[in-house]
Amino acid sequence: MEARWWQGGYDPAGTLTEAVCGLCFHGCRLTVDKAGLCGVRRCTPAGLESPCLGRFSSRAVDPIEKKPLAHWRPGSWIFSLGSLGCTMRCPFCQNHHIAQPQKAVPLKELDHRHLATAVRKLGLSAVAYTYNEPALQAEYILAAAPLLREAGIATVLVTNGMFSPALVRELAPWIEAANVDLKTFSPRAYAALGGSLDVVRDNILFLADAGVHLELTTLVVPGISDAEEDFLRAVDWVAALSPDLPLHISRYFPAHAYAAPPTDISLLQRFAALARQKLAHVHVGNVR
Ligand code: SF4
Repeated sequence: MEARWWQGGYDPAGTLTEAVCGLCFHGCRLTVDKAGLCGVRRCTPAGLESPCLGRFSSRAVDPIEKKPLAHWRPGSWIFSLGSLGCTMRCPFCQNHHIAQPQKAVPLKELDHRHLATAVRKLGLSAVAYTYNEPALQAEYILAAAPLLREAGIATVLVTNGMFSPALVRELAPWIEAANVDLKTFSPRAYAALGGSLDVVRDNILFLADAGVHLELTTLVVPGISDAEEDFLRAVDWVAALSPDLPLHISRYFPAHAYAAPPTDISLLQRFAALARQKLAHVHVGNVR
């Protein structure tokens, strides 16, 4: 499957010298043989390539609440696909073995023309692109979505929301539901994680306007996203968008390159109580 959302730069002899990727907000400018920040999209002499398209590291059948989506088809199950790479670089990533892999991960191909049949065989009616950043499967998602919709199967994203404007415009009409991370309301903390508060806000607004069922997740990470003033600003912003928009406040556990102790449960409960003063649907998650 060919990668899209990129432009080539050529020398006078017409040889490709660089590719500028426009899939996510980073807009990586890549010379030949270089990969983008996501580690997945790469400039080759033939153009930008993404060897992971249609190839998956993980597939599972999950309860919808695990995505987490609490207000969309509650009690249902969903076919979940994950691949490789991410457009952010969170040091605490729970899925770093596929999002920021340090060694080869086996991938299995799943032709987009066979996806609807595979989902139906499982007795399911929804597919989630999850576990790693789904934007990196955008070409596959857009190829599969019309076939899925025709078969009565919904497309769901679990995403960090770092889409470029060109990508979100194309994706939104095909997405029935999404859980988007709202990692923090500190622009500086977002940038330190390789993301952008402005970009995620713009994309949340775009998806909401497009009628996508949206739920948001804030992982409360000590030292990164546990400042009460930032959290309250996030709640105010969500409430202004819609007090009915569900917010999941999730507990962090040490992982990957971040070793701070797990989030104090009393802090999660305090944040939840504060959020409930302005939002109708607040869920505390990942509390074992
Ligand atoms: S998807 Fe984003 S991070 Fe990856 S190459 Fe494109 S612009 Fe860079």
